[in-house]
Amino acid sequence: MFDQNGVTRRSFVGGMATAVAGSYVNFRSPRSLFAAELPPRRGEEDPYDLVAKLHYNENPYGPSDAVLKAMTKAFKYANRYGYPDADIVQKIATYHGVESNQVVLGAGSGEILDVAGSAFASNGKKVLGVEPSYGFVYSHVSSVRGAPITLPLTSDFRQDIPALIRAAKSHYRDIGFVYICNPNNPTGRIVTKDEIRHLLDELPQDMPVLIDEAYHHFVEDPSYATSIPYVTEGRPVIVTRTFSKIAALAGMRLGYAISQPELIDRMTPYISDSINAVVKWGGAAALEDTATQERVKKVTLELRKQTTSELSAMGYSVVPSETNFFMVHLKRRVEPVIAAFEKKGVLVGRPFPPMLEYLRVSIGTPDEMRRFTVAFKEIMARPVSG
Ligand code: PLP
Repeated sequence: MFDQNGVTRRSFVGGMATAVAGSYVNFRSPRSLFAAELPPRRGEEDPYDLVAKLHYNENPYGPSDAVLKAMTKAFKYANRYGYPDADIVQKIATYHGVESNQVVLGAGSGEILDVAGSAFASNGKKVLGVEPSYGFVYSHVSSVRGAPITLPLTSDFRQDIPALIRAAKSHYRDIGFVYICNPNNPTGRIVTKDEIRHLLDELPQDMPVLIDEAYHHFVEDPSYATSIPYVTEGRPVIVTRTFSKIAALAGMRLGYAISQPELIDRMTPYISDSINAVVKWGGAAALEDTATQERVKKVTLELRKQTTSELSAMGYSVVPSETNFFMVHLKRRVEPVIAAFEKKGVLVGRPFPPMLEYLRVSIGTPDEMRRFTVAFKEIMARPVSG
């Protein structure tokens, strides 16, 4: 139970439980990807842990030991306002080869998406993107009296770059920014590096483009590339990244954007500055722990391929994914199927209009994926009213 530095997962977890006292979730040791799972101690069973959580595209294995150790040490700053912050901004800048004034932190990359909406698309301005995509971007813009312009996906569920270019040109005066989710949530499909270059070359030169790379770390397709080099080229690009997915820190809230200092200056007034000390140290450790990330990627993609092959063998088509989730065509409405899964203790993705016959499934642990496949066979064998 002790790692070589004397920190146990349980001691870290104990600290976390104190920190979140009163919240619904009784935080408990994550299943370890690399060690045999510890049996629960008497009295420790938590109903939360019994549910297969395949609905939020999370990393089911929890943060690595190096990250847990860094966060445990950082608890000594819990009572401070001013504390050493692991130089997290500089570390992110160095990691990406940019200057520190090209980095802005958010409490999750979701905060940066909101902030971009407030800074560029409030009060009558528009965000241009596709649907379905990460819809919270559009709902936030609507909440600040802006509006989304959303275009349909292509017939193979990709973001329609020529159509986005045409719409950007015809609504030039109204558009506050363009939103590209790469790879896209919920479809898992990428925009290729050639398409991104074409988009940036064709869009009006002063139109900000936010490229959300939350699932960057899971991509294998060589025709994909990060868009961070476009920031270095001086283009009006904002690239967002998160520690929630590959680094398994979703509940700790840390993300960031890489962009031009001028665009960051426009976003900064809307940033809440609410990132906690503990996750700053966890994020800094995660940047260095690429070996764990490679293992998470490997096991996740293996499980995705195994699960989607089983579904294909059963006659269900799956949208080709480059992420830690996939969509399967149910050939029937998704809502009753989601409810049927829930009754079996398996949480799967919400409906994503207009793809209302498609179910989004996140890749969980091997055990969770087995439970998913068993439940899928049972549910889909029943008549449509299911
Ligand atoms: N962007 C995409 C595409 C996502 O799917 C998510 C979360 O699921 C986020 C951003 C926000 O993630 P976080 O705020 O945890 O960084």
